[in-house]
Amino acid sequence: MNLVYRSTRNREETASASEAILKGLTNDGGLFVPDSIPKLQVSVEDLKEMTYQDIAYAVMKEFLTDFTEEELKTCIANAYDSKFDTEEIAPIVKAGDVYYLELFHGSTIAFKDMALSILPHLLVTSAKKNHVENEIVILTATSGDTGKAALAGFADVPGTKIIVFYPKSGVSPIQEKQMLTQKGENTYVIGIKGNFDDAQTGVKKMFSNKELAAVMDGNGYQFSSANSINIGRLVPQIVYYVKAYADLVKNGAVKAGDPMNVVVPTGNFGNILAAFYAKQMGIPIGKFVCASNENKVLFDFFQTGEYDRKREFVVTSSPSMDILISSNLERLIYRITGNDAEQCAKFMNALTEDGAYEITQEMRDQLTEFFGAYATEEETMEKIRQVYESEHYVLDTHTAVASVAYDKYVKDSGDKTPAVIASTASPYKFTRSVMNAIDPKYDVKSDFELVDELHRISGVAVPNAIEEIRTAPILHDTVCETAAMEEEVKKILNI
Ligand SMILES: *Cc1c(COP(=O)(O)O)cnc(C)c1O
Repeated sequence: MNLVYRSTRNREETASASEAILKGLTNDGGLFVPDSIPKLQVSVEDLKEMTYQDIAYAVMKEFLTDFTEEELKTCIANAYDSKFDTEEIAPIVKAGDVYYLELFHGSTIAFKDMALSILPHLLVTSAKKNHVENEIVILTATSGDTGKAALAGFADVPGTKIIVFYPKSGVSPIQEKQMLTQKGENTYVIGIKGNFDDAQTGVKKMFSNKELAAVMDGNGYQFSSANSINIGRLVPQIVYYVKAYADLVKNGAVKAGDPMNVVVPTGNFGNILAAFYAKQMGIPIGKFVCASNENKVLFDFFQTGEYDRKREFVVTSSPSMDILISSNLERLIYRITGNDAEQCAKFMNALTEDGAYEITQEMRDQLTEFFGAYATEEETMEKIRQVYESEHYVLDTHTAVASVAYDKYVKDSGDKTPAVIASTASPYKFTRSVMNAIDPKYDVKSDFELVDELHRISGVAVPNAIEEIRTAPILHDTVCETAAMEEEVKKILNI
């Protein structure tokens, strides 16, 4: 039986998995959610013996029910190959009392690779299945990591173009250089004079602009999204939580059936939602610790039940979490309304119009598995130094935020359940912040000197992703006002 996907804002709008992947957002600006979360059909005993690719198939086939076995296996084989620098794809590493789930072994050294190395294959397959003749234009807003991972995934994929908007002054120098050196005839990178939320809002506007869609269609184009709202990104992210649990059982840290906790440095709420879905599929997970940086909208939400984006946007050293509108939270809100699209739409309209909404007590009662915590800049830096000094393990800034949040959770609850912290970026991606945290004396050095210094003090090989941008030429230089985003897209497409 085919799983039905439905809009969080309109019961009547449904899609198959491949249609949902193609569309990204629903017509009314909502997100696609499956009518129910399917159960995993494999026992933990069997999971223990399976490769990442095998587990990926076992998880994804339950969600992408209109893909054939051959289609899905081909997508998986093309995604999780030697682009990753370890055969394990997402290894867990113990440092101190916790397990770090390293999600940064893909081609752009951030966790976005976990999903974006497979999304282009899922999308092209979906287009074929649905007899789409138009060229697909991937439109993406990025706070830094999605952009490069999406560019790398889609570069020179036939039948696609990819346009990435990023906040010109809101990403790290290495992140920016990674994007601006992107090769591929079909790749476009544009800096905007605004923050990530401005970029995301601009992109969402274009997606829901019906006139624009008609003009696009007349010219043989249609939009699709590589943002984490696409279920083609969400579903592949469930896989590594299943794998992590199997690994913990395999190495004896957890008895099969006993829970693990997960801690996730959160921005758009995609990664942690995937963990939540892993639990619905049958993986024993106790708590979900939702870690924020100083943009602590989610912390406040879990504390008070009010989601309020009306606040100052703080630029932190963990830019991929500098987000005030966590788009994927909508899927959780929908669920805790009892899948009531009408009520969910009301909350989301209030967020757009008034900048805030407050959920009911009944809804709050369903959030007890979540614990919100946040880290200040100072706590984040201190954490990086401390883990380096005591464990000789170097955390990136985002992972350090999660690690601080986890300490706060343990202090608050006394819960010693084995915990997996999602490690979402290689420290090489945020070298300056990381090295400064370890010792401020490094601040005078250039970015690439810092890379070499990090290699010297950590012994961790410099990833390919960094080596290749050392000398690469800048290929993109467009910067625009937030209000001019649509104009830029039209220019690129010549429409
Ligand atoms: C995207 C990103 C996050 C946030 O993940 P969400 O799924 O948006 O919550 C955290 N850390 C890093 C390094 C990221 O790239």
